[in-house]
Amino acid sequence: MIVFHHQTALRKYLLATGKAGKTIGFVPTMGALHAGHISLIARSKSENTLTVCSIFVNPTQFNNAADLEKYPRTAETDMQMLIGAGCDILYMPAIPDVYGKLVGVTEHFDFNGLETHLEGTSRPGHFAGVAQVVKLLLEIVQPQKLYMGQKDFQQWLIVRRLVDMTGMATEVICCPIYRELNGLAMSSRNVRLSAAGRERAAAIYSTLRWAKASLPALSFAEIERQATQMLDANPDFKTDYFKILRADDLQPAGAFSEHISFVIVTAVEVEGVRLLDNVLAEPV
Ligand code: AMP
Repeated sequence: MIVFHHQTALRKYLLATGKAGKTIGFVPTMGALHAGHISLIARSKSENTLTVCSIFVNPTQFNNAADLEKYPRTAETDMQMLIGAGCDILYMPAIPDVYGKLVGVTEHFDFNGLETHLEGTSRPGHFAGVAQVVKLLLEIVQPQKLYMGQKDFQQWLIVRRLVDMTGMATEVICCPIYRELNGLAMSSRNVRLSAAGRERAAAIYSTLRWAKASLPALSFAEIERQATQMLDANPDFKTDYFKILRADDLQPAGAFSEHISFVIVTAVEVEGVRLLDNVLAEPV
């Protein structure tokens, strides 16, 4: 694996590689890697000749300084995991290398309201920061394929729109959620949970599955109400939202239909750690 800290050297290398007819798959991350990230690397490796991973804890997507401060940083282990996964290139820049003159400047993107609800409501400015950094990273790496996790479903929709809006020639691919044995979605934040909290947090996925199974029988409002109640019955749980929405635009869906794709999305604070999860209900 070749490690680059500077975009100029990385660009030069990729340009030469691109000319040699290789296809580039890109997996952007904030590090503290786990098996979920590695599943994205594996998918990229199976579909491209060159896989690039980036590790960059992007400050502009944190609306809370304490959350940024507490974000786990495990560079050495991350590198070993990437080498083990056969990743070809790691881009691990410092802030000025990514932002250059744009340090402190927020670029504005209009995602037609997609960016202002759910995570956008709880974390104002979060998606402006995500869009800004993804755009900059895509301009540097210029991959044929970009691999993102379904776990951050709203982020995936926003990045897909960003790529459409900017006319970049990159396909945005949504990869399935990788889970712990107990069903908890893997997340870099899980290390901040106690062992008991990690066990209890399995209730998030089981509640999502209960909600999906209840779609044809109960009203959406009733499912959302009961699910929130079930989650909040656990010690140290605080449900921020639990919503059944249309999967293509995250708008309220009204009622169940076998012909529409739904996503059931939730954000729950467990022991003060914010955890995201979702399940899709697609037409059969
Ligand atoms: P992060 O480092 O948390 O920004 O995540 C980097 C990428 O990995 C994002 O596209 C995430 O959606 C994806 N990801 C995070 N957790 C998982 C998971 N459990 N399964 C699959 N992909 C994931």
